[in-house]
Amino acid sequence: MRYSKQRALLLDLLKAHHDHPTADILYHELRNIMPSVSLGTVYRNLNQLADCGQILRIGTKGSERYDAALHPHDHIQCTVCGGVFDCPPNLYTIDGNAVCDATGFQLTSCKLILKGVCPHCQKNSSDPAQAVSK
Ligand SMILES: [Zn+2]
Ligand SMILES: [Zn+2]
Repeated sequence: MRYSKQRALLLDLLKAHHDHPTADILYHELRNIMPSVSLGTVYRNLNQLADCGQILRIGTKGSERYDAALHPHDHIQCTVCGGVFDCPPNLYTIDGNAVCDATGFQLTSCKLILKGVCPHCQKNSSDPAQAVSK
């Protein structure tokens, strides 16, 4: 991978985040440093970083979020604000052997995204039960 100033800056910006920002958020931050940068460039560089394993890409196409923390960890996503948080480790375990037995798969990785409503959105919602059913 060729060195790119934009990519190096993006990686630095992402490392300062612990809230799994979207490409859009990083784009606005990068634009403060590099006014000529385009959103397409940001996406391309983030994809390159993710493809070569320097950052994690979380979520589904169109709503990806990025994480510079590379230690294995799972995520929990708020269904109201879309925020992604790190899930504390060791709260649960997955029985890989049982999964393989049941599906015939050979497991190569295990990434979970748990869904819920974050404390902030619970506070903002007058009816938390309704927020959960969204
Ligand atoms: Zn939320
Ligand atoms: Zn994370």
